Amino acid sequence: MLKALFNLIYPKICYACGEAISGGMSNVCISCRAELAFLSIREFENNPIQQLFWGRVNFEKATAFTKFEKNGKVQKLLYALKYKGIKEVGITLGELAALEIGTSNFFNDIDVIVPVPIHAKKKKKRGYNQSHYIAEGIQNITEIPVNLKSIKKELNTASQTRKGRFERFENVSNTFTLLNTSQLKGKHILLIDDVVTTGSTLEACANVLQKIEGVKLSLLTISATY
Ligand SMILES: [Zn+2]
Repeated sequence: MLKALFNLIYPKICYACGEAISGGMSNVCISCRAELAFLSIREFENNPIQQLFWGRVNFEKATAFTKFEKNGKVQKLLYALKYKGIKEVGITLGELAALEIGTSNFFNDIDVIVPVPIHAKKKKKRGYNQSHYIAEGIQNITEIPVNLKSIKKELNTASQTRKGRFERFENVSNTFTLLNTSQLKGKHILLIDDVVTTGSTLEACANVLQKIEGVKLSLLTISATY
């Protein structure tokens, strides 16, 4: 009763369309959920994400939940997650992705989920790593554990002065270091990121993870531009 009254005064808002949400849903309304499912990448064989990483990463499986559309629903949701501090949106996106992709047995032989880390400075500014919450949402549906302790991203400050601006940016943004990898040895890792464009971040992160003995690797992002 109190909750119903609270919802009447402060209705829950869909972060994709701005409309009030009715029923027991949170963060994304039912029609936006349907739209996301419609945009989902259903072709798992030879999909655009696999094509992007062929010859760059030795992966088992790779896909994205939905195609990225400029000013589309996914862009709005990722904006809320990354720049408005609404981490619950990440959990919802992870859950929706897992429900959609899970129908293809994609998760069947995955042992552990690893979100692509962000640099400590960025994490401090944002307060969290957005991909961590996406991973949590996937865990809610699949019950596959999330590992946050095995890899970190850091600033590579060495020999940047002689490089061009773009090169310097790429260099800074894609330096990953392994930490304690004992829990990942021999595992099939699912590497998670929010969005893939050029694939350079995922490629760098994946290639570092592949230095761990006996690992297999798969890739999943919420959205992809192609
Ligand atoms: Zn909506």
